[in-house]
Amino acid sequence: MKPEDHVIAEEPYYEPVGDEIAVFEAAYAKGLPILLKGPTGCGKTRFMEYMAWRLKRALITVSCHDDLTSSDLVGRFLVKGGETVWVDGPLARAVRAGGICYLDEIVEARKDTTVVIHPLADDRRVLPMEKLGELLAAPDTFCLAISYNPGYQSVLKDLKLSTRQRFVALELTYPDAALEQKIVAQEARIDAEQARQLVRFAHMTRNLKGQGLDEGASTRLLVHAGKLIAAGIAPVTACRSAIAEALTDDPEMLAAVNELSSSLF
Ligand code: ADP
Repeated sequence: MKPEDHVIAEEPYYEPVGDEIAVFEAAYAKGLPILLKGPTGCGKTRFMEYMAWRLKRALITVSCHDDLTSSDLVGRFLVKGGETVWVDGPLARAVRAGGICYLDEIVEARKDTTVVIHPLADDRRVLPMEKLGELLAAPDTFCLAISYNPGYQSVLKDLKLSTRQRFVALELTYPDAALEQKIVAQEARIDAEQARQLVRFAHMTRNLKGQGLDEGASTRLLVHAGKLIAAGIAPVTACRSAIAEALTDDPEMLAAVNELSSSLF
């Protein structure tokens, strides 16, 4: 795909939860890289889409995983029709296009992979392309953003200090109840009362975090349940399928979470 294919033409629906838009814009204007912290499903990806649209930049997103190598990001030589050609990876494409590169769940990537972003994430703003023998300078419009979920408390999965200290951090949390209700109603196309109940249910599950659940229901899961409700599924069933089953496989926990939704709906 060409970078222009990643330009977001229509304004994505995004409700700000704090001053994240202003801080992002200021960091972008000063060429500082951005770290989004927050639990999965709290709106980080939507926020990036919104900012890319607002700043009129191409958005290139990479979902990081433990097999991700630096070549996957930077590029590699490939044999095509008997010839060896260089193919840019997504990070190099974003740098060349002066777009926004969003590395989602950066801690999933191998530590040696993370190191390739260091020269891009400080004053140098360059991408060393060792195999090509090139140093790619990032234009002013280029922006590097990464996300990380501090909830997965694990020494193995923690972001290296030398990496995180290069970034301006923005913490995105779940929106407050009234705002989350508005988002769920809008995204799932359900009425305000149904959305309010789903948010109440979410708060109950969030209180179980650390007491049998690793995470409570995220905004994303509420939107999923809401969409099932909008499609005619009974709320208790929707909560079970879209939320409880997504949160745990433990039969006792499942029963407890299902009981909570039965008490509400
Ligand atoms: P993350 O990237 O943090 O895992 P997403 O950005 O994919 O989460 O958010 C999941 C869903 O929740 C979105 O698709 C959207 O429907 C909804 N959502 C969460 N926060 C917001 C917000 N502030 N404004 C609009 N929609 C939101």
